[in-house]
Amino acid sequence: MDKLKEYYLSLGIDEKVYDYCSSMEDKLKERFDAIDKVAEQNQVKVIKAMQENRFAENHLHGSTGYGYTDEGRDTLEKIYADIFHTEDALVRQQITCGTHALTVALFGNLRPGDEILSVAGKVYDTLEGVIGVRPERGSLAEYGVTFKQVDLLPDGSWDYDGIKNAINEKTKLIEIQRSKGYDVRPTLSVAQIGDIIKFIKDIKSDVICMVDNCYGEFVDVIEPSDVGADMVVGSLIKNIGGGIAPIGGYICGTKECVANAATRLTTPGLGKEVGASMSATRQFAQGLFLAPTVTAAALKGAIFAANVYEGLGFKAVPNATEKRHDIIQAVELGTPELICAFCEGIQSAAPVDSYVTPVPWAMPGYDSEVIMAAGAFTSGSSIELSADAPLKEPYAVYFQGGLTYQHAKFGIMMSLQKIVDKNLIVW
Ligand SMILES: *Cc1c(COP(=O)(O)O)cnc(C)c1O
Repeated sequence: MDKLKEYYLSLGIDEKVYDYCSSMEDKLKERFDAIDKVAEQNQVKVIKAMQENRFAENHLHGSTGYGYTDEGRDTLEKIYADIFHTEDALVRQQITCGTHALTVALFGNLRPGDEILSVAGKVYDTLEGVIGVRPERGSLAEYGVTFKQVDLLPDGSWDYDGIKNAINEKTKLIEIQRSKGYDVRPTLSVAQIGDIIKFIKDIKSDVICMVDNCYGEFVDVIEPSDVGADMVVGSLIKNIGGGIAPIGGYICGTKECVANAATRLTTPGLGKEVGASMSATRQFAQGLFLAPTVTAAALKGAIFAANVYEGLGFKAVPNATEKRHDIIQAVELGTPELICAFCEGIQSAAPVDSYVTPVPWAMPGYDSEVIMAAGAFTSGSSIELSADAPLKEPYAVYFQGGLTYQHAKFGIMMSLQKIVDKNLIVW
């Protein structure tokens, strides 16, 4: 028996589980090679931006207090702008999460009487509160900003007529959510996003096209800002923080959009000038440097998972062979027992908190119990290996991340092992 296999067996993986998973992995070499090529191009893109902006040792040290003339922070923002090919960028530790980044972008760029149009249907759950689709204290709705949405057509394509009809004199900002989040629609490709931006700009050229880029960064060699988006927004504890950023969010876009957002994040008059980086610049920069390969690892893990579970007869979304546009993998397991066993397996493979057993709980803001598995170095980081599932039909588990492919693979093997241990599948 080979040494690696022996090692896995000593970790509690059955021979049958190991052999089955290995046979699945063997089929994936070509796809993994293609992912490595994307990572290579993005790696070089990141390094080039760092070099061209003369990123330097003294930029790593950070500032305190007001943070005036924080060269490291300002240089990192230029690097982000170069990577996204935008005029400017706001990359800050004062942005607490992805929802906050989107909130800053929206509030900064909208005024009473303006309307938001979402062209890919329902927005991410937390954004519903921000916009006021779900009544919430301080929402945009309270400030007189209205909202419309046009769903994708049943086949996942744009509803061009619906979008054309929905655009009116009040329409100020188009919201395009790249990743499906917890929705059932497909994730959008960058090319698809480019198509709709062109269509919209032909109808109304001065409308702001904003892309919620969460989970999408570095999955492709281009970003939505390369195909016309005025603003791209995301979280640093997902792909682009590379697992190293402990907090933060970014907004890349036109000078005007970024200045408006910065004014909302800090104050009118101060904008981007203040906001101490403390010790974050080193972590943001190192995370950005690692992000292309970390994203590649997460993608490989997702594809491996889709193949393992589809091979056992479960529905994987995206399926085992389709092209990826984000790092999220859903698997419809169909029963609460399978969901819990899967999550136990992911947890037991973690570097942190591996000994705890995840259990479903009534988490605020959800309409059913939710189970979450994560043993992350950064709390809540979903570029690290994690899984979560609402305990309701169709009993789908959402799986994402893995700072290394090897860890993601181990997690998936453990998830299957727990299912086998509990006799939840027949094979
Ligand atoms: C994660 C996510 C968000 C919100 O990010 P948080 O950091 O959880 O606030 C918004 N949109 C999409 C599509 C996401 O995946």
